[in-house]
Amino acid sequence: MSPKSPMPVIRASELSKTYGQGAAEFRAVSDVNLEIGAGKLTLLMGPSGSGKTTLLSLLGCILRPTAGRLEILGEDVTGLPEQELPRVRREAIGFVFQGFNLFPTLTAAENVGLAMDLRGIRRNAARQRAEELLIEVGLKDRIHAFPADLSGGQKQRVAIARALAGDPPILLADEPTAALDSISGRAVIEILQRLAHEKSRAVVMVTHDPRVLSYGDRILHLEDGRLVREESAISRPQQAVPLEEAQGYGSFSETFRVEF
Ligand code: ADP
Ligand code: MG
Repeated sequence: MSPKSPMPVIRASELSKTYGQGAAEFRAVSDVNLEIGAGKLTLLMGPSGSGKTTLLSLLGCILRPTAGRLEILGEDVTGLPEQELPRVRREAIGFVFQGFNLFPTLTAAENVGLAMDLRGIRRNAARQRAEELLIEVGLKDRIHAFPADLSGGQKQRVAIARALAGDPPILLADEPTAALDSISGRAVIEILQRLAHEKSRAVVMVTHDPRVLSYGDRILHLEDGRLVREESAISRPQQAVPLEEAQGYGSFSETFRVEF
């Protein structure tokens, strides 16, 4: 392939997911065609129930599509047997969820270290790497704190560090700022943007939040399971919201309840 058109990190062709059967059948994702390259922050937006989580789960090989084809790093994963998918996820994909999903009895470093344990990284190396990752997300002073002693924004940054444990080329985040106040939300989106731009990761973030729009290199709009529109940073006017104004919107969780 020519250097001008590097292989997309994710390529979806006519990707569809139907839940249920017979009369209860429901098509949550419909014929999605999509290529996602490295080094970009892609935002996936759409009303509640439009299929954002389902599409992200398909891209992350958590859910299997009912039709279509998905390639991750050039590998057709739709044809792989079920038992191969954990390998793809372990090697290629990091996940960040709205609810953080940290173990309450483990410190920040142990939560991140656990993800490396599961990858067979040796204890000392895992501890050192966990600390490096926590420093990278701005938590140098909170390395040995327990989740209960961390703010929501700090917990989400631990979750990002954990998602980076396997150094994945793909990072998928489902509404990671939804439960956060505006300043914490901004810190999280800035980290995700930096991970895309400086570390050349493909970062895909589902969001409801209009305040994060200016950080996206691409914005994909989903409606009734279909990709209906795309905007790129180049085609959009500069619309970065000043911090004071952003705070005036109220908390991220309030914004989250406002459906488009
Ligand atoms: P979003 O994240 O955009 O809110 P989802 O992907 O969670 O949307 O859901 C899309 C649609 O699929 C919704 O109508 C939802 O009710 C339905 N859905 C989601 N998960 C399931 C499931 N496991 N079984 C049946 N329907 C589901
Ligand atoms: Mg969702």
